Amino acid sequence: MALTELSAIKGIGVTRAASLRKLGINSVEELIGHFPRTYQDRGDVIPIAELEIDEVNSVKAVVAATKLSRPGNKVMVRTELVCQSDGVRQGDGSLGTLLPSGILEAVWFNMPYMKNAFKSGVPYLFIGKVISRLGKLQMVSPEYEPFAPDAPRIVPLYHATAGLSQKMLRKFVKAALEICGAAETLDEQIISNYGLCSREYAVRNIHFPENDEAFFRARRRLVFEELLTVQLRLRRLKKRAAQQAGVVVEDVEFAPVRGLFSFAPTEAQDKVIREIMGDMSDGFRMNRLVQGDVGSGKTLIAMLAAYAVIKNGGQAALMAPTDVLAAQHYRSFTVLEKLGIRVAFLSGSLSRRERMFVLEDIKIGRAQMIIGTHALIQSGVEFYNAGLMITDEQHRFGVRSRENLAKKGAAHVLVMTATPIPRSLALILYGDMDISIVDSLPLGRTKVDTYAITTAHRDRLYTFIKAQIDEGRQAYVICPTIENSEALETLESVTAMAKSLTDVFSEYQVACMHGKVNPEQRDEIMTAFSEGKIDILVSTTVVEVGVNVPNATIIAVENAERFGLAQLHQLRGRVGRGEHKSYCILITDSKSKICRERLDAMKNSNDGFYISELDLKLRGGGDFFGTRQHGLPEFKIANLYQDMDILKEAQAAAEEVTGGEGDEGWVVI
Ligand code: ADP
Ligand code: MG
Repeated sequence: MALTELSAIKGIGVTRAASLRKLGINSVEELIGHFPRTYQDRGDVIPIAELEIDEVNSVKAVVAATKLSRPGNKVMVRTELVCQSDGVRQGDGSLGTLLPSGILEAVWFNMPYMKNAFKSGVPYLFIGKVISRLGKLQMVSPEYEPFAPDAPRIVPLYHATAGLSQKMLRKFVKAALEICGAAETLDEQIISNYGLCSREYAVRNIHFPENDEAFFRARRRLVFEELLTVQLRLRRLKKRAAQQAGVVVEDVEFAPVRGLFSFAPTEAQDKVIREIMGDMSDGFRMNRLVQGDVGSGKTLIAMLAAYAVIKNGGQAALMAPTDVLAAQHYRSFTVLEKLGIRVAFLSGSLSRRERMFVLEDIKIGRAQMIIGTHALIQSGVEFYNAGLMITDEQHRFGVRSRENLAKKGAAHVLVMTATPIPRSLALILYGDMDISIVDSLPLGRTKVDTYAITTAHRDRLYTFIKAQIDEGRQAYVICPTIENSEALETLESVTAMAKSLTDVFSEYQVACMHGKVNPEQRDEIMTAFSEGKIDILVSTTVVEVGVNVPNATIIAVENAERFGLAQLHQLRGRVGRGEHKSYCILITDSKSKICRERLDAMKNSNDGFYISELDLKLRGGGDFFGTRQHGLPEFKIANLYQDMDILKEAQAAAEEVTGGEGDEGWVVI
């Protein structure tokens, strides 16, 4: 299908097209597929007096005064509006007029033109998160538009990016729908059997719902389609899996590998290894998922499986979702060189020349154990004899990468995840795989003590960190952003935090780590940290998954309210990985109820399964997105917890379409 250029839409020039590309939107069709992140029910417009702090509010107000200033560093221009309610709620729930009921400041940074964007005396709708600063109510970069009583009640909110406002996105999507509409993708039979609406109707109403009912019909159709697609892909994968294995593993003596470690495998690790060996020796391809909570020791399992395949003449590859984790795995897997196994590293950060050499080694079989990022499944990587493909932290990859992996010859497939999802769901999502669970942690691990504190307790925290370091331990301090961004001035940025901690901890080694540090430097920092040469690692969530430095015993998380529960659990999993008592300190000044509940859950439980289910409950059904933080595959619109019924229908439909055979008769594009 030919795609329509974005420039077909009035108002999209080179600059806006570039901003749209940042959102992954390259054509008019993709713009239509950019479904709202959530919706705003403007039935909830409230006067200033009823604002809820730390929540997103829609407020109706008039602008009483505007002010430009250059605070702090003098470079930034701050525009401030003083807004007043033009009404208070009347008996019938509507807003009356001209009875001021409070003051709200609206603030923008580096957008001086905002000063002139408003007419005085005209009511506007401001939508944004309300914070309380120095006793004043404030919205930073709120959305706004002239207040219109008959405007649509339900308004889409999109994932946006710099240079693209919600308003613009709405306008562009409207225009896109006029240009392209949405061609039908499903078989007529399926549409009528499952009582679905047309794609055209669904797409229009998912963006601009005519009413609640239209929205739910639209959503059901789109969720159905998305889940059906996944089901069909899984069936295809399953079919591929029932193939002859390239490498059949026969008797392997594990003693040499075990000898490399000071500990013996746990019973849980042994059980999973036995399951893997069973799969790899029966002549068919293995297709197995290993689930195990953070710290359960999945790496050793991967290493033993890889060793078995290599000893039987195959190559083994291990793919990790981040450069940091891939590099760490590379460092640990090089111990296999002691046993004469040749270990290679392939990631996007290699130079062309280095990459060429590694590719050659993989192709001629000189590299036996290959560690890398998803550079490993890109085209151009040819294996001499791919025996086993392992994916670590699978939830970061998704079905597509599983498909790419499955294409690598007749290799066994092993995927590992710390994702604690309920078993019933795992069976459907990983319907193509067998599942092993590493159900216990290595002996001697004690519970990570978790505390929630406010920024007022920073000094005590620092004293505590010092005491830990003086005992020979190390610490992580996690921040949500890289640099102090204008819009999020209350967030602790990793660079500013690193600077301030360098002063506070002047006699210690402090290093700073984030996604923009170049790969070699990142590698140096991580190596130094794992060798104990750095005492405090100030980092963004680039260390969220998989990073293993057992001597680190304390992790402090700044702006903990910004993280989902499952994500906090992953972060906490960076400590408590060795014999030492460990601590997780969650720092937040947020007073929001949901944040309190999350932090309480973290304090009370160390069980990933429990935490992830609770996370979903706390988020409620309204959150269609954010599945990434649950560790579930990312769906565009489906929410597996909410859409279990539709999932069952989609499964039945997949069965009809493929005649129960998983054949290639595809109906969905
Ligand atoms: P994860 O399952 O989170 O990937 P890792 O494989 O990184 O966990 O293991 C976490 C830590 O536990 C590592 O330091 C590893 O060396 C250690 N470990 C793994 N297996 C055992 C074991 N059987 N006994 C003691 N420590 C172990
Ligand atoms: Mg791991």
